[in-house]
Amino acid sequence: MISSLDGKVVLNNGVEMPGFGLGVYKVEDGNQVVRAVRAAIESGYRHIDTASFYDNERGVGKAVSESGIPREELFITSKVWNDQQGYDLTLRAFEDSLEKLGTDYLDLYLVHWPVSGKFKETYRALEKIYEDGRVRAIGVSNFHIHHLEDLLVDCNIKPAVNQVEYHPHLTQVELKAFCEKENIQMEAWSPLKRGRLLDEPTLKEIGEKYGKSVAQIILRWDIQNQVITIPKSIKEERIRENADIFDFELTKEEMTKIDGLNINERSGSNPDDF
Ligand code: NDP
Repeated sequence: MISSLDGKVVLNNGVEMPGFGLGVYKVEDGNQVVRAVRAAIESGYRHIDTASFYDNERGVGKAVSESGIPREELFITSKVWNDQQGYDLTLRAFEDSLEKLGTDYLDLYLVHWPVSGKFKETYRALEKIYEDGRVRAIGVSNFHIHHLEDLLVDCNIKPAVNQVEYHPHLTQVELKAFCEKENIQMEAWSPLKRGRLLDEPTLKEIGEKYGKSVAQIILRWDIQNQVITIPKSIKEERIRENADIFDFELTKEEMTKIDGLNINERSGSNPDDF
């Protein structure tokens, strides 16, 4: 379990990935994303999660290069979008992301969604990029167990990460156990259920005990569950608040209580219907 904002999780290929990062979905390119990423880096974040689909890679790259932090101390994830899938298109999409981010390598590159009939070819391109030494780790996103099983039959390099929707209303028990068994690191997207969990009474009550917000309780629960988490905010104060979770520990009973809030409810699409 990581014990600080720059604490690392060791992936199945030995690469160290910060267990906490900033998500930038729906953050506008330009000033908005530059300000958010700058605030995060200044607060000690070392991991940024973007995607070609978010259309803000240029701004992320600008904030990273202006930060003065050496590139190798930062961990940058991007993802290949659905209309870029297939072997050749993916190779091109990767170059495009690098160019926009203004970097010559990525730390993690993910297949954004399991596009039926295409995701294996897409993943084969990721393997090529990895073998060429241009990305430190490759993985997938929004893969159910059956997608992973299907991919594992054919791939040469096991995905290092599966980034999926994960929060107290969607605890993904079977998928998490499968990923643990296969040594694929789970990563939580929409950890705050896009803000829709912040009035949850059980979480509020636990928060009151520690003098912490509901957001902080959820993010701490992620960390104690060994799930990498990437909350999004464009507000400096919340960016700092979200990361201020390394000075308390939820009890086993509280962890179980939060697990018990699961209702298998998604805020985003089910990968089988997308
Ligand atoms: P989150 O669960 O991180 O919630 C973000 C929302 O919560 C925003 O409206 C934000 O508002 C608000 N918020 C953040 N912190 C606080 C706080 N402390 N108190 C109150 N409100 C708060 O949603 P996301 O969907 O953005 O998920 C996180 C990241 O996961 C994304 O940004 C993206 O990087 C990734 N992702 C990946 C997907 C995939 O398919 N692989 C899909 C979806 C997301 P404000 O900004 O105004 O503070």
